[in-house]
Amino acid sequence: MTPTLSEAVAAARTGALPGSSCGELAAGAADVADIVARIERVLGRGGAPVALHEPRFAGNEKRYLVDCIDTGWVSYAGQYVTRFEEALAAASGVRHAIAMASGTVALQVALELAGVRRGDEVIIPALTFVASANAVMHCGGLPHLADSDETSLGLDPKKLDAHLADVAETTADGCRNRLTGRRIAAVMPMHTFGHPVDLDALTEVAARWRLPIVEDAAESLGSLYKGAPVGRHGLLAALSFNGNKIVTTGGGGAILTSDDALARRARHITTTAKLPHRWEFVHDEVGYNFRMPNLNAAVGLGQLEQLTGFLDAKRALASRYAAEFAGCNAARIHGDQPWATGNAWLVPLVLQPGLAHLREPLLEATNDNGIMTRPVWRLMHRLPMYAGVPRMDLSTAESLEMRIVSLPSSVKHGLAA
Ligand SMILES: *Cc1c(COP(=O)(O)O)cnc(C)c1O
Repeated sequence: MTPTLSEAVAAARTGALPGSSCGELAAGAADVADIVARIERVLGRGGAPVALHEPRFAGNEKRYLVDCIDTGWVSYAGQYVTRFEEALAAASGVRHAIAMASGTVALQVALELAGVRRGDEVIIPALTFVASANAVMHCGGLPHLADSDETSLGLDPKKLDAHLADVAETTADGCRNRLTGRRIAAVMPMHTFGHPVDLDALTEVAARWRLPIVEDAAESLGSLYKGAPVGRHGLLAALSFNGNKIVTTGGGGAILTSDDALARRARHITTTAKLPHRWEFVHDEVGYNFRMPNLNAAVGLGQLEQLTGFLDAKRALASRYAAEFAGCNAARIHGDQPWATGNAWLVPLVLQPGLAHLREPLLEATNDNGIMTRPVWRLMHRLPMYAGVPRMDLSTAESLEMRIVSLPSSVKHGLAA
């Protein structure tokens, strides 16, 4: 009798792994049961449901929030926006942080400030959250999809360089796609799950093709590249503080830059382009209302004060997963590259090449048993609105898409060591 998948999972949880002893279990089900058992041992949850990533409010969040309400400073002016921005800039090693209503609009404004104009193409990885591509569209551009690197899960600089050599040429105003006739205006790497791409290698390629870098650092607050925080290697970077990110403001984002003029301009156009005056309403261009309210910044400041503890806990949890999976033949935990110390935002399990067919059963076995796991995002060119955009060979991203499963990664599981 071959046990069903759920029987195998149940047996694995109690420590009796039937696949290894009876040999009757379909090899795939035994691998899935083994992976679930390892996840269970790391979480030690005693049967309670586990979220993929839950926020933790253990600091001054409530006190700061009440202070906003008590003083009436709830909206676009107030000390918490300024304090949050100063703390963010310090944590990221940049001169300026400009808080915004979401990570998506922070990306949009960053791209606009980097010079992306209507009709331009922007290089982004195909393996990213849809907001990266949407932000390009929102500023009038078109995503141009690039492949990822198995070692970083982010943009592959070598492959991008070879692709640009095939399709692009440098011009007086930057870079042009010879196939489409459009300008390629920027490259926007994304640090997947907080794992930094090889920024030095990418910087070299970007410089050769005269492309400014805008970092989509939405997932990577606290991640280090060669010992320094990410978000300062490009002209601009964007962070997100959505509820599932390492630090949350409920909803929000920020632009990081060390360029004084860009920072001034970011502030200006995201606050309706209003000229300072004691009472006159004078606006000198079509601006946005993209600023972060003081209420959200108050929560964010309380969160940011705990960042070091969050990072320690999340890195400890990632290490426990890595140790538990060290002897697993079917899958590996994606760890830090030599150049990086990631923030361990979400811990990705990567199935071995050839075992992609285990992804669905693994998602089913975990989610059916109260362990919330998720696949990586559907690749951009497989979404209807981006099916026709320019792209290069995406074989590594396509392989990774079918093999990545994100594991529960909340701070609380790192604390309960
Ligand atoms: C979360 C996220 C964003 C967008 O952030 P929002 O604050 O939700 O708008 C952008 N890019 C990536 C890679 C993200 O993970």
